[in-house]
Formats: sequence, structure tokens, C-alpha cells
Amino acid sequence: MNNLDGGHFNNTYSGLPEYFYTRLDPTPLENPRLVVYSPSAGQQLNLEDTRETREKLTLIGSGNRAWPGSEPLAMVYSGHQFGAYNPQLGDGRGLLLGELVNTRGEKWDLHLKGAGPTPYSRFGDGRAVLRSCIREYLASEALHHLGIPTTRALCVVTSDTPVYRETREAGSTLLRLARSHIRFGHFEYFFYNKRYEALKELADYTIEHHFHDLEGMKAVAGSDKGYQLFYAEVVHRTATLIARWQAAGFAHGVMNTDNMSIIGDTFDYGPYGFMDDFNWHYICNHSDHSGRYAFSQQPDIGYWNCGRLGQALVPLFDDIELIQKALDQYPQIYTQTYTRLMLDKLGLLAEEEEDAELVRDLLQLLHDSHCDYTLFFRTLSSFPSEQPVNQLEALVNHPSLAPWLDSYKKRLKRNPLDDQNRQKRMKQVNPKYILRNYLAQQAIEKAEKGDYQEIENLMNVLVSPYDEHPDFEHYAEQPPEWGKKLEVSCSS
Ligand code: AMP
Ligand code: MG
Repeated sequence: MNNLDGGHFNNTYSGLPEYFYTRLDPTPLENPRLVVYSPSAGQQLNLEDTRETREKLTLIGSGNRAWPGSEPLAMVYSGHQFGAYNPQLGDGRGLLLGELVNTRGEKWDLHLKGAGPTPYSRFGDGRAVLRSCIREYLASEALHHLGIPTTRALCVVTSDTPVYRETREAGSTLLRLARSHIRFGHFEYFFYNKRYEALKELADYTIEHHFHDLEGMKAVAGSDKGYQLFYAEVVHRTATLIARWQAAGFAHGVMNTDNMSIIGDTFDYGPYGFMDDFNWHYICNHSDHSGRYAFSQQPDIGYWNCGRLGQALVPLFDDIELIQKALDQYPQIYTQTYTRLMLDKLGLLAEEEEDAELVRDLLQLLHDSHCDYTLFFRTLSSFPSEQPVNQLEALVNHPSLAPWLDSYKKRLKRNPLDDQNRQKRMKQVNPKYILRNYLAQQAIEKAEKGDYQEIENLMNVLVSPYDEHPDFEHYAEQPPEWGKKLEVSCSS
């Protein structure tokens, strides 16, 4: 058992030379209160969900007590923001507390977001507000339980320390867990500063700790071939991650390269959004005026970001063609993964040539009819025996529905699954519950008044989104009109 008085830390990142980070402690928050704790994330650290655990986490999460064995530091990195290179980023309001090893031997980074100013804070105050911490908490736990790779959230703490945004808000923190907090931007920092030795140290460190078990890596580590294996794996994980976002209807909102995890986790939640009505051009980030990070752009942006990483890795290679070859795999990996996920959503086992068209036509139909993406697939999961066509008609009010359903029915005849088995499989991949923006907003508004129960209520469905929850049926419904128009900006 780990406990909060000790635990087994193996702080490998703080063993790297000092040009990778700045050591410093969190700046304490006043009068801290625990907003929410995730027992499921706690289990990853072998923490027991007791009052004592929660009390100690309140102190640790507010910077009022150190987790014995931790060695807090702010990581340095840079990155491309909205397409332009920014040489000066780094952990401006978060600290890597340390790397805790669980009983399975897994090392988990503990990162405290909102821990106070660091040398990388630029003009910021180093703080985070309650609404952004709750949003990250809810989304990371929601994506995890949907089966999408993501950082985890252990707890949110709030306080009486004032933080000024458009208004005065409560200084708060999120204690985040991830197997690694290394970003594409870490590599860009050393590349653009022409620190090629440090770049190699970082690549070797990343491979040793996170990519050592790739097939064939042992024999080729440190060579062109080893760096190619590593980069090809990052490209693969990024392409498959974004395929999963697209299939789930999730938009990240700020896919800057400093928000791209080197291990392929969904990382740094800001103005993200799960789509309600399907819309190719869905833009969840109110500040994204050009739509650079619109839903439909995410696969291409993932590719572009992998290109920026590839560029930063150039000094490691004798033969830079190897980088291009690995990057060239991205479109195919993305398309194959996305198609497979969409066919799973349709309950189709094998892939036929015209299936891509079936998917495309459906998405066009959902787009044209402003249909709720999640509800459509969940309703279709009972089609046709449990759910009569008129339920779909109520959802999709469009003349193209009938011809599409005809094509789908014909296609199902060639699918080697009976209705019952197909429906069962479809309900395991088409969630009934997603983190709708308005649900997060309602939970935040209550939490800002000191009532944290709505977060817990919401978590009941988010931890098993494919199951039925009769007591929480209302969380599966379409949002009210006001709930579709909420806008989220970057000021968090
Ligand atoms: P983000 O938009 O949250 O991905 O942050 C981009 C960069 O700005 C990172 O280097 C953050 O550490 C930094 N940053 C964001 N908010 C703050 C803040 N309130 N204080 C200091 N730095 C911040
Ligand atoms: Mg960020």
C-alpha cells in the first residue's frame, strides 16, 4: 500500500540535468477544501479512499504539505501555438511533484496544476480557477472510462485565495496523474535552442522510460533505427488517439504542440467539447476565430503536429528520410483506425469497400439534420427490433434518413451477427452518457456555490458510460437550447 506519508517515489526526471527544469515548491493556497476525489484514479496509486487520505490530499493539493518523497519541479518546454512557434513556454502554473511507483511497478507522474508562479509563468499568476479544474477533472475521468487514452485526475482542491480573471474567482488546483508529462514541445525547446546534446538526452530518456518495450528497440536504441521506431510509435499513437476523439465526437480545442503528449494521451484540457448536434465545423474554443482547431481539422492538425515533432528530431538522425517515412504512415493509420471504430459503432464486423461511403453518408445526414451524435448511435444500437424506426425519425428529421436506413438494412444482411448480438456489441461502443458541456456547466455553477454533489452525481454515469443508469436518465437527454450555446474560452 502506498500512503501519503511516504510511498515509493522514483524521481527519474529530477535526475536529469538542471537545464530540463527548475526546482521549486508549490505556493500554498489559503483555507483549502477538497472538491472531489477520484477513488478510481487513487487505486492507480494504491491509495485507500479514507477520510485520512482525503484530508492529506487537501493539504498536498493546496501546497500546504509536501508528499514525502516528492521533488517538485517546473519542466521547461516550448511549442507551436496556433501555428506559430513560441520559444518561451514551460510549466507556468503546474509542477511535477514526483513519480510515484505503484505495487504493479508502474510509475505515475503527479502533477499539481495551479501550484503558483514559476520562472515560466510569463505574465500569468501561476494559478488555476475552480471551473477549469472541474472541467479537466470531469473530462479526463470521462475519457478514461470511454476507453480513450488520457491523463487522469486524482482530486480538485479549492481555497480562499483570490484569483482574478474576468471576475474574482477561487484559486484551485487539480492533481493530475500521467505516465509521462513530456510534450512534443519539450523536444522543440531543445531543437530550436540548438541544444542537440540535450535533445538526444531527452530522446534517450523518453525511450528508456516509455518506449523501451517496443519490439526490436533493445537492439537498436541510440541509433537511427531506434529513433525511427520511437518516432513511428508516437505518430501511431497520435493518429489512433485522434481517430478515437473523432469517433467519440470529442474536440480538444487547443491542439498546440505543447499540449501534445509524447505517449499519446489526451493532454491539457482547456476549452474542449463533446459535440451535442453533429457538426463537421464544430469549434469549441471561443477564442479560435479561424477554426484552426475545429472538429473536422483535428486529424490534419495531428499530422501537422507530428511533423513539427519530426522536425525537432532531425539532429538525431543521419538519414532524415527515416523521419518522413514514419510520418507518411499517419494518414493510413488514422483512416484505418477511424473506419474500424465507426464500423464498430454501426455493429459491422468485417469491412466492405462501400462501408466508407455508408459512414460518410451518415455523417452528412447527421450534419444536415443537426442530429445529436451520441443519441443517434445509442438509438441505432437498438435498431430495428427494440427500437422502431419512428424513434430514429424523431431524432433525424430529414428526407435522407429513409434511404440511408435502407442501405444500412441491406448491409446488415451481409453482417454475420444476429440482431441481438449486434445490438449488444453496439451498446458497448456507443455510450449512452457523455460529458455534455451544459452538464459540466451545471456542476460548476453549483460547485462555485459550495455544493459539490452534482459533480459526484455526474461521475456516477461518466464512470460507466455504456451502461444504463435508470436514476440518472436525464443525463442522457439532449441539452436544452441554452446548453447548446455555451462558449468556453482559454482564460482559465
Ligand atoms: P495552456 O493554454 O493552459 O496550455 O497554457 C499555455 C502556456 O501558458 C503554458 O506554458 C502554461 O503553463 C502557461 N499558463 C497558462 N495559464 C497560466 C497562468 N495562469 N499562469 C502562468 N502560466 C500560465
Ligand atoms: Mg498547455
